[in-house]
Amino acid sequence: MGRHFLQIPGPTNVPDRVLQATARPTIDHRGPEFARLALEILERLRPVFRTTGPVIVYPSSGTGAWEAALVNTLSPGDRVLAFETGHFSTLWCDMARRLGLEVELVPGDWRHGADPDAAAERLAADPSIAAVMVVHNETSTGVRSRVPEIRAAIDRAGHSALLLVDTISSLGSMDYRHDEWGVDVTVGCSQKGLMLPPGLGFNAVSGKALAHRGGFPRSYWDWEPIVAANERGFYPYTPPTNLLYGLREALAMLAEEGLPEVFARHDRHAEATRRAVRAWGLDVLCADEREYSSSLTAVVMPPGHDADEVRRLILERFDMSLGTGLGRLADKVFRIGHLGHFNDLSLAGTLGGVEMGLAAAGVPIKPGGAGAALSWLGRRG
Ligand code: PLP
Repeated sequence: MGRHFLQIPGPTNVPDRVLQATARPTIDHRGPEFARLALEILERLRPVFRTTGPVIVYPSSGTGAWEAALVNTLSPGDRVLAFETGHFSTLWCDMARRLGLEVELVPGDWRHGADPDAAAERLAADPSIAAVMVVHNETSTGVRSRVPEIRAAIDRAGHSALLLVDTISSLGSMDYRHDEWGVDVTVGCSQKGLMLPPGLGFNAVSGKALAHRGGFPRSYWDWEPIVAANERGFYPYTPPTNLLYGLREALAMLAEEGLPEVFARHDRHAEATRRAVRAWGLDVLCADEREYSSSLTAVVMPPGHDADEVRRLILERFDMSLGTGLGRLADKVFRIGHLGHFNDLSLAGTLGGVEMGLAAAGVPIKPGGAGAALSWLGRRG
């Protein structure tokens, strides 16, 4: 028995350093040691979002951080523009509707990112749109939306809408720039690129968003009391101290490697994975090479073959978990997560397991995909 290969696109494998950090004794969350911990973390989180503004940390899942972004900036009845890029953009829209927002949805085929031309068109037609919601990296499809082009579309239309971006499966693994790209709220969470267990949600917030304050009733999610308490390193409730120990360690690991190097590592593993998929004779779901995700790859099954059957067999034989097809992609794709605490040999094991599993499930593939990926990786040192 070896380690389990957790190759879903999050939660990701938690490094021993981070796990050990979370095992430290819990301390008084109103004492000076906690304040030092929180102030250090809040400062060191900013470069990960590429912002100089505040980052709010919630004890929550990513879904909670989605809700926080909406209820802090918008008012019931507001119109928001969203893009059907996949399962998670659909869920975020469902949440917006349940909260009482009016969602204008740009339909999509789940193989492309948010369309900047469609954004420009809709914004020009409707000055009342209060916010644009974009999922930077659609975890259900492995497609990256071109956020700077969406920003440019908002600016071209001379529109004042806020830009809200979900970076749940890209933060800390793919290039992302909150300030430079003019994002108003960036939503993130702990269990993917940040290499932590689930349990932390993030909102990075622009000055415009902080000043905006919508009219939704809010209490737990309200930024204001949190930002005020954070100034001295505290929280208006009991914070998740042990996850914060883990976060401090994970941020140190990202800083030691260097964010540009972290992104280059993810880009390289994603390219190697796509080479393996093509060498097997299979298709990558993402249809536009400008929009490839670097943190996961969704692989399309040939007709007549069930992706979940392949996943089941790979789990049983090789003790490896792969991501299932979500929503309308159920049974049609499986997803390989190559993000977080991951290196060349992790990729070698992952692709080797996928290749053996596809062959064992009787999927008609050409052999040698894993080898093709490894030869390319080897040459690229
Ligand atoms: N948004 C994206 C892009 C995701 O991948 C996920 C979860 O995988 C979520 C939102 C929801 O996050 P959570 O499951 O932590 O609530």
